[in-house]
Amino acid sequence: MTDQDTLQRFLFDGTDIRGEISSLVTSYQTIVAQQKYPDAVATLFGEFLVAATLLSATLKFPGIVTIQATGTGPLKTIMAECTQGNKLRGIVRGDLEAAAKGRSLKDLLGNATLAITIEPEGGERYQGIVPLDAGNLSKCLEFYFNQSEQLATQIKLSSDLKTASGVLVQQMPSRQSREKIDADWQHVSALMDTLKPGEQLGLSHSEQLFRLFHEDGVRLFEPQHLNFFCSCSRQRTEQALVSLGATEIRGIVEEQGKVSITCEFCEEQYEFDTQHVEEMFNPDKPTLH
Ligand SMILES: [Zn+2]
Repeated sequence: MTDQDTLQRFLFDGTDIRGEISSLVTSYQTIVAQQKYPDAVATLFGEFLVAATLLSATLKFPGIVTIQATGTGPLKTIMAECTQGNKLRGIVRGDLEAAAKGRSLKDLLGNATLAITIEPEGGERYQGIVPLDAGNLSKCLEFYFNQSEQLATQIKLSSDLKTASGVLVQQMPSRQSREKIDADWQHVSALMDTLKPGEQLGLSHSEQLFRLFHEDGVRLFEPQHLNFFCSCSRQRTEQALVSLGATEIRGIVEEQGKVSITCEFCEEQYEFDTQHVEEMFNPDKPTLH
């Protein structure tokens, strides 16, 4: 795999179908290294992470896309988040030991729903929820696009323990005749169906697209770099503490001498002593340093 941690757009000459292709190596490995994930969990998590990159690329404005599965199985949550600027983070919560026996999506998450949340920068957040019962994540995401956005979409996701790779093709609004739109879509969609996991994980983006669409005039755009980046900060942690209320936080400080918070996404530690906590709840009161 030569296209490590990059996302590329592509278009088909003469049609109104667009595509995105993405591969994660270092970013994926950095994220899964934060916990001891069983192989089946790490692999599924890889699919979520790469799917988040493909969805973020469909945004037409600065913002964040989050894909979150909530389940009743050993895993309670799988969440992946990607900004339009290609910063990626994610988390899995649940009983990882119990999940080690699972293989399928159903084994790992039980009865699950999938929430797709779009947060435009400074705008209203939008959420769509679909059942996660199609057997795999890509089918559920395709269902989401067909239902919520009414855009014919096809997605292929593959992941092993080293690489997570995905490709998305989507019908754009078009002024072409219905017959031509349908014929173009059926053609592209049938070729997409032939893409194998080994090809997704082993071939470069241009090799994959050549293998699929070499007769279809595909234009592949410049690669954009993707990386793991956690958006946590001391200030955001403070805001979260303030929202819990003065009584609770003062109680913790009295008992333990400080409040210590570890970010679930990146393991960064934030500590607040008595003085910090008082400043947090009385921001206007001048303090001596
Ligand atoms: Zn963090």
